Amino acid sequence: MSASIQTETQVAEVDIAIVGGAMTGATLALGLARLAAKGRPLSIALIEAQAPGEAHPGFDARSIAIAQGSIFELRRLGLWPLLAELGTKISNIHISDRGHLGMTELNASQFHLDALGQVVELERVGRVLFDALRHSRVQLHCPAKLTGVAPEADGHLLTLDNQQRLRARLVVAADGIHSPVRQSLGQPLTQIDFGQTALVANIITDKPHESWAFERFTATGPLALLPMGDSQGQARLSLVWALEAGQAAMLKSAPKAEFLQALQQAFGYRAGRFVDVGSRHSYPLCLSYMPRPIFHRCVFIGNAAQTLHPIAGQGFNLGLRDLVCLLEVLEEALARGQDIGAAATLHSYLALRETDRRETITNIEFLVRGFSNQHWPLVAGRSLGLRLLSWFPPLKLPVARKAMGWR
Ligand SMILES: Cc1cc2nc3c(=O)[nH]c(=O)nc-3n(C[C@H](O)[C@H](O)[C@H](O)COP(=O)(O)OP(=O)(O)OC[C@H]3O[C@@H](n4cnc5c(N)ncnc54)[C@H](O)[C@@H]3O)c2cc1C
Repeated sequence: MSASIQTETQVAEVDIAIVGGAMTGATLALGLARLAAKGRPLSIALIEAQAPGEAHPGFDARSIAIAQGSIFELRRLGLWPLLAELGTKISNIHISDRGHLGMTELNASQFHLDALGQVVELERVGRVLFDALRHSRVQLHCPAKLTGVAPEADGHLLTLDNQQRLRARLVVAADGIHSPVRQSLGQPLTQIDFGQTALVANIITDKPHESWAFERFTATGPLALLPMGDSQGQARLSLVWALEAGQAAMLKSAPKAEFLQALQQAFGYRAGRFVDVGSRHSYPLCLSYMPRPIFHRCVFIGNAAQTLHPIAGQGFNLGLRDLVCLLEVLEEALARGQDIGAAATLHSYLALRETDRRETITNIEFLVRGFSNQHWPLVAGRSLGLRLLSWFPPLKLPVARKAMGWR
């Protein structure tokens, strides 16, 4: 089916409408465009409220770690060649528990890999993905905000804030934690508030990072430092520091010297001396997930389906597995001439995603609760766990498989 051009009062008919064009939605749209280019009859619309730029909520100042398994999937989608030059390799990860003996390391060489993952700056990724979208067969509605979703027997009627209307046989909601699609359709969301806020900033150090990433569990919460590309010859690390909300607010506005001193005290000198910090941003942290991320002719993916605490850097990695799985299910339905929005198609997707979603969500909750706690049996247990990983390297394989996001 091809898309029809509409006047203001007409309705454009599309096969798939994706709501939300940040990391998950934009990647899915490009994956679907690739399917369409292979000759599958498919018209695709992407509705995104914000054009790439400074105010974009999904392509903002954050840097994220993309696991090796996700790089593999992005390569299969033909996207990694576009993004590769933005990536900084993670070759080693150092994990430690502040004030206790537990520590361990993961090294790419132990697993015969070139890297455990890559760090990318979201703002730069957004520009590349949108450039690719503009040259693709995806109908881009951006900036355009979804204002209404009306379920119909064979699809949904979507209304945008520019008065345009689209009718889609399948709606994919990639519209984030507050998903307007989920709210319009009255679908439930389970939320666990950990009372933590992430403080995010770029840090200049006096020592090159040599592709090391660091995860340190502190009394207030976990602290991660990811390697970034140098800036004007200076070594940079991307900081994600989970703190109690009041402490995060205080450190966000603290004078630079005071902030750097507090960070140095919490982390130590393993990554060198922290000499400067860029602009600081904060994100309230919680764990939220839809118990059932499908509805009548609608699938929820990425942060709309589940938003994770960034403790293990798994949010986009899990969202990518959602969208890759959805692409596979849709390709198979199209090959068989089946209805892409039919309940059977959506149930196939749900069945394929269930275990990975459940396990990842449970592991993250366990990590956040276990490593943000000074209760002595937990402290002893996690110190022992980290030491066991150091002493018996084969135990690292299951941990590394999860960290690297292999399906
Ligand atoms: C501090 C921090 C560090 C992180 N680190 C990592 C990491 O190292 N590795 C990792 O894998 N993940 C990490 N994550 C998670 C990762 O950033 C997210 O999982 C990923 O970016 C989610 O993208 P998304 O596209 O699903 O959702 P979002 O980024 O929330 O995008 C939703 C999009 O929907 C659009 N939208 C909303 N409403 C409407 C509407 N009405 N109409 C049209 N459009 C609409 C928004 O404009 C937005 O662009 C981190 C997250 C945080 C907060």
